[in-house]
Amino acid sequence: MKVISDIQQMQAWSKEIHRRRKTIGFVPTMGYLHEGHLSLMRRARKENDELVISIFVNPTQFGPGEDFKRYPRNFSRDKELSKSCGVDVIFYPRARDMYPQGYKTCVDVEDLSNVLCGASRPGHFRGVSTVVLKLFNIVQPDAAYFGRKDAQQAIVVEKMVKDLNLALRIKTLPTIREKEGLALSSRNTYLNKQQRENAVILYKSLQTAVGMIQSGHKDPRKIIAQMRKMIKSRRGARIDYIRIVDIRSLTEVKRIKGRLLIAVAVFFGKTRLIDNAIIRA
Ligand code: AMP
Repeated sequence: MKVISDIQQMQAWSKEIHRRRKTIGFVPTMGYLHEGHLSLMRRARKENDELVISIFVNPTQFGPGEDFKRYPRNFSRDKELSKSCGVDVIFYPRARDMYPQGYKTCVDVEDLSNVLCGASRPGHFRGVSTVVLKLFNIVQPDAAYFGRKDAQQAIVVEKMVKDLNLALRIKTLPTIREKEGLALSSRNTYLNKQQRENAVILYKSLQTAVGMIQSGHKDPRKIIAQMRKMIKSRRGARIDYIRIVDIRSLTEVKRIKGRLLIAVAVFFGKTRLIDNAIIRA
């Protein structure tokens, strides 16, 4: 397994792989790897000749006052886990090379970027789509793997790939959870024991919503009210948003029908957690 930090060197490596008519699977991450990341890596390993992951805590997708500085990092552990998943290359760029002085260009996937997490974190998805496009141009993958845990991110990236005619496939894989249901996240390390126990309510409220839809409830307001009640019952939970949206447009639905994304964001202390469920009504 190689670690490549230099952008030109990464591009040259990928060019050589393609010259040999081999395929590259790619998993972009911010590191501090957990089973969620590893599930993407294992799938990408199976479906491609070569497997590249990137580890880059991208400064431009963090807002002022967010956790960029204290975001958890552990490169030597990440390296071991990557090796155990059969990673061929870890692309590990420096921020000053990704965004040299005078950097000017951004990608903005309109509308989809301003709702849900984009409403709470202005500029977040512009940072995400820009860095993902840069990573695609550097790594030149045939397929890139994303987690449904960050459903909006995957939807924004898919739209960018389609609109900009990028020649790769995006695969979105299921959320990996702890036994009790908490979605794995590098940010879970911020939680104390009690917050971690209370955070299971995100998953439970989503399950309740799915159950209500399956048993024929049609009014999203009633479902959201029930979710709100459940989440508020947990000490220290502060709701950022609960929404039921059309999976393509991410706009709120007035009645339950079609393919829907139920998305929640909740603070426990300073830690903001997100989770979601996708359902066809
Ligand atoms: P991150 O390092 O948080 O930027 O995540 C990198 C990739 O891993 C993204 O595509 C995430 O959606 C995915 N991911 C993060 N957590 C999970 C999880 N619990 N299950 C599945 N995929 C995940």
